[in-house]
Amino acid sequence: ASVTTSKKTNVLGNVFISVKTTRQNHRVRLPAILQTWFQLAREQTYFFTDAEDAEVSRASGGHLVMTGCASGHTRQALSCKMNSEFDAFVLSAKEWWCHFDDDNYVNVVSLEKTLKSFNSSELWYLGRDSIRPTIDLTTKQWGDVRFRFATGGAGFCISRALANEMKPHAFKGRLRELSEEIRLPDDVTVGFLVEVIVGAKLTALPNFHSHLEEMLLIRKPLRNQISLSYNSKRKNFVPVEQLLPRDPTRFLSIHCEIFRELPTCKRFRRR
Ligand code: UDP
Ligand code: MN
Repeated sequence: ASVTTSKKTNVLGNVFISVKTTRQNHRVRLPAILQTWFQLAREQTYFFTDAEDAEVSRASGGHLVMTGCASGHTRQALSCKMNSEFDAFVLSAKEWWCHFDDDNYVNVVSLEKTLKSFNSSELWYLGRDSIRPTIDLTTKQWGDVRFRFATGGAGFCISRALANEMKPHAFKGRLRELSEEIRLPDDVTVGFLVEVIVGAKLTALPNFHSHLEEMLLIRKPLRNQISLSYNSKRKNFVPVEQLLPRDPTRFLSIHCEIFRELPTCKRFRRR
């Protein structure tokens, strides 16, 4: 029942991609994205941040969104941004919302291929299931609950139909409030909302990846993966066939391993 056989075209055109970022990452993390996968999804990809930046705004074609959220790695700040991402999707005309972090490489062709096999008018929550198999929680309003969530750092996608069900509990600050109420991070709160309140289920897809995984274990070919990541401090990087110069995140090397024929990649081809 999950897979439809209809031939859908331009699915990527119907995806709203939000990338969570913060001022201190603009110069460090965004250039690698803007140079690589953003170029294949310029129309639908937006960056959600906490500070103005004329250069990023220009490079992204005006797709830098000022959330008004605090900067900082706090639950409040991160949930505020996730709320802002959700709100923007709700107000968009797209069929799918896909969230990613600013240390994600997104293979938009693989993402499109995967989304094609699901119907956005059904309730779909797709992503990497967290390392912790389930969360157990005792709440006043919902009693003892058990649920799963998709790790935000690997990215996840939510169908329009599911977002409609989430809207009364998430739109315009409600998601942020819910996160405060249950005292859990933004991605866990999304899982709580989807599984406990709405009653839908996470569909775990193994081709979403966060840097909580050992990148050395990523299966080849890279073109089959949807999201990849890195952790510079821990030197956790995707292994690539050819490490290109000036590519500390490896996003360009990954990009050119997947899309060899791109003009930006041809100059690196051996032989
Ligand atoms: N982030 C943020 N504000 C901060 C720190 C991080 O919005 O002060 C965002 C960051 O841009 C990224 C996500 O939160 O998209 C996760 O941050 P990071 O990768 O630094 O840490 P992790 O949680 O993966 O260890
Ligand atoms: Mn990260």
